[in-house]
Amino acid sequence: MITEIGFDADDTLWHCENHFFETQARLEAILEHHAPREEVEAKLHDTELANVRLFGYGIKGFTLSMIETAVQISRGKITGDEVHEILMMGKAMLDAPVELMPNVRTVLASLQDKYRLSLITKGDVLDQTNKIDKSGLGDFFDRIEVVQQKEVDNYRDVLTRHGIDAEHFLMIGNSIPSDVLPVLELGGWGVHVPYRHTAVFERHVDDPPHERFRRLESLSELPALLTKIEQEGAADR
Ligand SMILES: [Mg+2]
Repeated sequence: MITEIGFDADDTLWHCENHFFETQARLEAILEHHAPREEVEAKLHDTELANVRLFGYGIKGFTLSMIETAVQISRGKITGDEVHEILMMGKAMLDAPVELMPNVRTVLASLQDKYRLSLITKGDVLDQTNKIDKSGLGDFFDRIEVVQQKEVDNYRDVLTRHGIDAEHFLMIGNSIPSDVLPVLELGGWGVHVPYRHTAVFERHVDDPPHERFRRLESLSELPALLTKIEQEGAADR
């Protein structure tokens, strides 16, 4: 029996990575006279990966990594105006309205009486909190957790603090490494809903070969999946 559902936020409840994708394209355009776009993209990804330990996830770290990339790619020739433009691009991302995925409110409303709902997101606390406010979805959730990482220990900590048994817990999100694998390892259910862009940190090639792993095309399919899992569980008993 599943009693508790954990929702990832970015690229699961609302669009997020598209902003990174579009901003990266603008950075590549700014730096076009210094290096080809592919080189800028590769350098930015390497810089982001190297910096995440110090900056954490999120737009502020991404903005600093864009500036570092611009300085290195241009061999220090990037102008103050161009650095300013990159900063403004980062600020625009932080200030962007939250665009919900289709049917999010309907799905959450249909589940909230039957299950306890958690929002579990990683990243910059201020940015994540602002997005939750802007989304207007906060009231659907019994618990909201902004964590620094989404690894096994982080999920174990959340489940322990709230007295949730992993086998009654289902997590849904767009990232196999962050939303699915750690929860499967703890004995819960992991549901993957792919998004059209995947962050450099979240790439994963193979599906986990696990009986509690599921994939959905969209969040709208979650209520039907829960019904199916319950029916299968009842048939097994
Ligand atoms: Mg996500």
